[in-house]
Amino acid sequence: SHRINLGPLVGAIDQGTSSTRFLVFNSKTAELLSHHQVEIKQLFPKEGWVEEDPKEILQSVYECIERACEKLTQLNIDVSNIKAVGVTNQRETTVVWDKLTGEPLYNAIVWLDLRTQSTIEHLIDKTPSRDKNHLRHKTGLPLSTYFSAVKLRWLLDNVEEVQQAVASHRAMFGTIDSWLIWCLTGGKSDGIHCTDVTNASRTMLFNIHTMAWDADLCKYAGALTGIPISGCLGDQSAALVGQMCFQDGSVKNTYGTGCFLLRNTGTRPVMSNNGLLTTVAYKMGRDKPTYYALEGSVAIAGAVVRWLQDNLGIISSSHELEMLAGSVGTSYGCYFVPAFSGLYAPYWEPSARGIICGLTQFTNKRHLSFAALEAVCFQTREILDAMNQDSGIPLTQLQVDGGMTTNKLLMQLQADILCISVVKPSMPETTALGAAMAAGAAEGVMVWSLEPEDLSTVTSERFDPQIKLEESEFRYARWKEAVKRSMNWET
Ligand code: ADP
Repeated sequence: SHRINLGPLVGAIDQGTSSTRFLVFNSKTAELLSHHQVEIKQLFPKEGWVEEDPKEILQSVYECIERACEKLTQLNIDVSNIKAVGVTNQRETTVVWDKLTGEPLYNAIVWLDLRTQSTIEHLIDKTPSRDKNHLRHKTGLPLSTYFSAVKLRWLLDNVEEVQQAVASHRAMFGTIDSWLIWCLTGGKSDGIHCTDVTNASRTMLFNIHTMAWDADLCKYAGALTGIPISGCLGDQSAALVGQMCFQDGSVKNTYGTGCFLLRNTGTRPVMSNNGLLTTVAYKMGRDKPTYYALEGSVAIAGAVVRWLQDNLGIISSSHELEMLAGSVGTSYGCYFVPAFSGLYAPYWEPSARGIICGLTQFTNKRHLSFAALEAVCFQTREILDAMNQDSGIPLTQLQVDGGMTTNKLLMQLQADILCISVVKPSMPETTALGAAMAAGAAEGVMVWSLEPEDLSTVTSERFDPQIKLEESEFRYARWKEAVKRSMNWET
C-alpha cells in the first residue's frame, strides 16, 4: 500500500503520575500523529504513603511505544521516520535499583508521599533559626517531603536491600527519567545513568546557580531500537516548553494529579518572597543558557476527583463529577480543602490535612463535586496571587493544559475565580510536545523557535470571567478561612 512520507517524526515518552503515554509528532507542524496511553496503579500501603511499581512503569512505557508505533503503521507511516525521542516524567518520584540485576530494590516513592514528614521536621529543627527555607538560597526549594533527597534518605535508613546494595556498590538512585533511560539504553548491560537539569533541580541535591551536577552525567546517547533519546525534561518544564512559554514572564498552569503554575523568569533565578519555588525551566544543550522559572506547586488537583471516585465512591467517573457539579452550579457554601499531602505552595505546611466545611442538611454530592472543582481553582488563585506579587506584573490571561482541562466547567470556574481569561490549546498534549521539541531540537529535526502561529496545534479555546468581582472575592475569602481551619491538624 501507499506509504505516506511526512518527513522526520519525533516521539515523546510522557510518564506521568496517573498514566504513561507515548506520542509521535510531525516535526514540522507539531501535529500529533499517533499516541497510546496506559494507566499506572497508585499504591497507598499506609496512611500518607504513595508508591508505584517501577517495573510496571517501565512495562507501560514499552506497551505505549509498541501500540503507538502499530497505529503509525496502520496509518501507512513508516516508524523508521522517528528520528528522535524525548522523555518527560513525573518529577521528584524516587527509585533505587540494583545495577547488576536491574531490579528495583523498593517501590518508587511518589512525590506526594508523606512518610518523611518527621524527617523534615527534624531537619528544620536542626537549622540555626528553625527555618524551612534554610537551603532555599542554593536549591530554590523549602525543606519539604516533596523532594527526592528525603525520600532517598528514607530508603537508605529503612530498606535492608537498599543498605546491602549500597554496601556492595550496586545501588543506583534516580528519578523516573533516570530509571527509564537507564533501562531503555541497555539496563544492566551498560545502561546510561543520567538525568537532566530540570529533574535534578527537584532532588534538593542540586545547586541551581552553579548547576553543580556534572553535565557529563547527562550524556544523551544510547538507543531505543536505534533512535536516540535526545531530550529529557521534567513534566512541568516540558509543559512550559510545549506551551511556547519562552519569553521572560510567560506563564502556564497544568492541571493533572496536582497543579503546577510556572512563570519563565529568563536566565535569572528569582527567589520568591511568597512561597514559590525557584526551579530550572530548561537548558537546551550543554552550551546553551539555563532558563529558570518560579513555580507554584499544588499537591492535589485531579487527585481529588480520584479520591471522590475511589475512596468515597460517590462518583463513577470524572465525567460524572462534571455533570453533577454542573447541575447545581454552586457548592452551596461548602468548601473542600484537599490537603491530603499537607499543603504545598504557598504554605509548605506538611501538618495540614483535608477538611470539608460548611455542610448543612441540604448539602449533597453535587455540591461536594462542585466544591472539589472549586478547590482546584482556589488553589490556583493562591498561586497566581503569589506570582503576581513576586513579579509585580499581574497576569492578564492564563494558558492552561493537562488532563483536567477537558472539564469545561472547571475551566469556566477558573476564569471566574481568577477574574481573567483562561486559554487552552486545542492540542492538549503540551507536556509531550515539549519533550518532543527538546529531543527534536537536539537532533536538528524540529524547528526549535517555532512561532505559535506556525503550529497547527495552537488554536485555542477561551473562557472569559462571567461572574462579578465581588462574588469571586467573597468565595475566595471563604476559601481562605477554610484553609486556616485545615492547618496544624497532624502534629
Ligand atoms: P498526570 O500527568 O498527573 O498523570 P494528567 O494530566 O494525565 O495527570 O491528568 C489526569 C488527572 O486529571 C487525574 O487525576 C484525573 O482524575 C483528572 N481528570 C481527567 N479528566 C477529568 C475531568 N473531566 N474532570 C476532572 N478531572 C479530570
